[in-house]
Amino acid sequence: MDYQAILEAIRDEITPHLHKGKVADYIPALASVPKGKFAMTITLESGEQFSVGEHAERFSIQSISKVFTFTLALGHYGRRLYKRVGVEPSGNPFNSLVQLEYEHGIPRNPFINAGAIAVTDALVSYYKDEYRALEAILDFIRQISGEAGITFDHEVANSEMEHGDRNLALARLMKSFGNFDNEVLSTVKTYFKHCAVTMSTDELSRAMLYLAFGGIDPVSGRKFATPSQAKRINAVMLTCGHYDASGEFAYHVGLPAKSGVGGGIVAVVPGRLSLAVWSPALNKHGNSYAGTLALEKFTTKTGLSIF
Ligand code: GLN
Repeated sequence: MDYQAILEAIRDEITPHLHKGKVADYIPALASVPKGKFAMTITLESGEQFSVGEHAERFSIQSISKVFTFTLALGHYGRRLYKRVGVEPSGNPFNSLVQLEYEHGIPRNPFINAGAIAVTDALVSYYKDEYRALEAILDFIRQISGEAGITFDHEVANSEMEHGDRNLALARLMKSFGNFDNEVLSTVKTYFKHCAVTMSTDELSRAMLYLAFGGIDPVSGRKFATPSQAKRINAVMLTCGHYDASGEFAYHVGLPAKSGVGGGIVAVVPGRLSLAVWSPALNKHGNSYAGTLALEKFTTKTGLSIF
């Protein structure tokens, strides 16, 4: 398949749509990212990459980091993790408080904010303090991407903290139900820091390769998850990776994928390749407008969906 030609055709077709949607402004440091940005990268089993647009430019990965923290925590806790977080789609916005209240402080899944904050809390407990937990998360991302220089943007993390009342409320609510072990403020700060990691589509696409190949990175041969864990992480991405638009995304794109409010989306074609796309303007569910369209065009043009 001529992946480069396919990417170029997608870029041409989505260019008129780049101005649609709205850049996330509830995190002020993200509001200034220009709407016209677009990048898309495909990584094959061999590590060979095909890219278009600003594919080497780093952007805020935001909720895409939740795939990495979920993988890391599953590796340490196994099934015990599911005592603290479920695997059902929420059908609610990513930062909703109401469901958490009537479901007694157990978040529906690890990809909504409450679930990801509970996973961060589990990692802080495992590593004994928040600094070591953050270092372990960064180290994991560096290993799966093969990029030692990956780090987070302090300005974005601080900006989230300044406007972090809703996430702090989610954490406090979990604590009131006994589903939170560590200090709320420092744990939520750690969550904001891993959301503020910056990566390019080249780096993100490369980092997702382990999930396309049963938990083993086919380039380095290193194992980052068991085949069963990889299968489950992909299942949760398919059903929960786009919050209350996950059904729509599965319907239009048909791939396990995870979005972030920085405008990035990562996706995998199991057994075949991994992908990342970036376009900062978001639809009303907080998912990249043009990024979703680009992935829909990808599966339509290549026939590479899981269905
Ligand atoms: N850091 C963001 C938040 O907590 C992540 C949200 C997202 O990417 N959907 O609100």
